[in-house]
Amino acid sequence: VSGLSKTSSNLVGAMGSIFTGRSKIDEDLYEELEEVLIGADVGVPTTMHLVERLRQEVKARKIKEPSELQLVMSELIAELLEDDDEPSLQLNQDGMSIILFVGVNGVGKTTTIGKLAHKLKQEGKKVILAAGDTFRAGAIEQLETWGTRAGVDVIKQQAGSDPAAVIYDAIQAAKARQAEVLLCDTAGRLQNKVNLMEELKKVFRVVQREVPDAPHEVLLVLDATTGQNAMQQAKTFGQAVNVSGIVLTKLDGTAKGGIVIAIRHELDLPVKWIGLGEKADDLQPFDKEQFLHALFQ
Ligand code: GDP
Repeated sequence: VSGLSKTSSNLVGAMGSIFTGRSKIDEDLYEELEEVLIGADVGVPTTMHLVERLRQEVKARKIKEPSELQLVMSELIAELLEDDDEPSLQLNQDGMSIILFVGVNGVGKTTTIGKLAHKLKQEGKKVILAAGDTFRAGAIEQLETWGTRAGVDVIKQQAGSDPAAVIYDAIQAAKARQAEVLLCDTAGRLQNKVNLMEELKKVFRVVQREVPDAPHEVLLVLDATTGQNAMQQAKTFGQAVNVSGIVLTKLDGTAKGGIVIAIRHELDLPVKWIGLGEKADDLQPFDKEQFLHALFQ
């Protein structure tokens, strides 16, 4: 929660000063609000939507006092984050669940898998990790370190080998060892986007062929500190695979929590997990109420 309140304080503070430091609601106010929202990574389309909705509400409710806008804004943002209350992890209740992690290098895929392995293991689940990022130097060893720490097996091949083959092996191992959750790392090199997307599709096909209903989740990992770049990555990955949710990492390192709102509005995807640091415990299911509370405390 401390990470969240830090990330949100910027937006709140800035909005607060717009709403309290004025005597009337005018064009200046709307313009300044736009700047603040865009500056907090809410993104242009979502900002335009929010400001337009605010104008409508001001008119409909005949609001005259700028100080009343804070509450309206919190309602409008809550409205955007309204979702179908999906669970943070969609697990198969009677059989193995396969979770694929996708995203570009450096966003925190391997770290997130390590943290989640730790959490699931603590809940008493039998977990296996698949070292499917065979491209990034050190990714396999890094995953093994997390696996050892969490006490879960890691299935790997040599660096440079075919990720789909690693995932295939991991599925066989997970079946043989009756694992409940298989967490699969994948490569995120963007130097050759076309190849990467083909590789991901191949991984996808292997998973679908080997286990009915799989993958149970495809989590796209995005680095919150990269702002609108992250939005672009989401669009690129979304074209190759059917993403089911977002992991937003490094929220501890930015005061721009607004990207959470942009993701929901522009991509229509739920933020399922947030990363608030580098340690095993620094992964939390995204909690809308907590986020809103942090925004408007
Ligand atoms: P990958 O290439 O996507 O697998 O990225 P890594 O898992 O190797 O993460 C890249 C760097 O980001 C590492 O130094 C991680 O420790 C760091 N990292 C990952 N998640 C978080 C987070 O939530 N907060 C912070 N501060 N650092 C993170």
